[in-house]
Amino acid sequence: GVIEDRFERNILTTTVDTVFNWARRSSLWWLQFGLACCAIEMISAAMPRFDLAERFGMLYRASPRQADLMIVAGTVTKKMAPVVRQLYDQMADPKWVISMGSCANVGGPFDTYAVVQGVDQVIPVDVYVPGCPPLPEALYYGVLELQNRVIKYDTIAKKQGVEAAEADRIRAR
Ligand code: SF4
Repeated sequence: GVIEDRFERNILTTTVDTVFNWARRSSLWWLQFGLACCAIEMISAAMPRFDLAERFGMLYRASPRQADLMIVAGTVTKKMAPVVRQLYDQMADPKWVISMGSCANVGGPFDTYAVVQGVDQVIPVDVYVPGCPPLPEALYYGVLELQNRVIKYDTIAKKQGVEAAEADRIRAR
């Protein structure tokens, strides 16, 4: 009786995913680069008035190997698209992407031969933030939405999905 009481009061059971996801959600380090005017609002969101770092633990990193979030802020030109893809590939799993602004979402006003009509043609996107440009508050909202996704991240399902995709790829050869 005494021992069991102590267990009930002092032991908390959880899953590894829950603990890791809580930590991931609270410290999304994002890759430092911007593609056009939306980047100015993204930078503003990181400055003291809005302060993504202190409020959400979101530090920006200069290396994709230290980042788990890419915020695509601005126009994705066809010349830049392979670079965006390469940076994404250099980030370690698990990783997430916010598409910030009309240009990154759908090409914005630039329906031209030189502009990718949505960065989701190049990399997978988790959250789309609308606007031209979105204000820092809108980016905040996008971050909160992303946090809701991160907290549900399932390591095993993701691994099985990757393995299934790999098996499909090998079968298709
Ligand atoms: Fe500039 Fe508007 Fe495109 Fe953002 S959505 S990069 S503000 S033109």
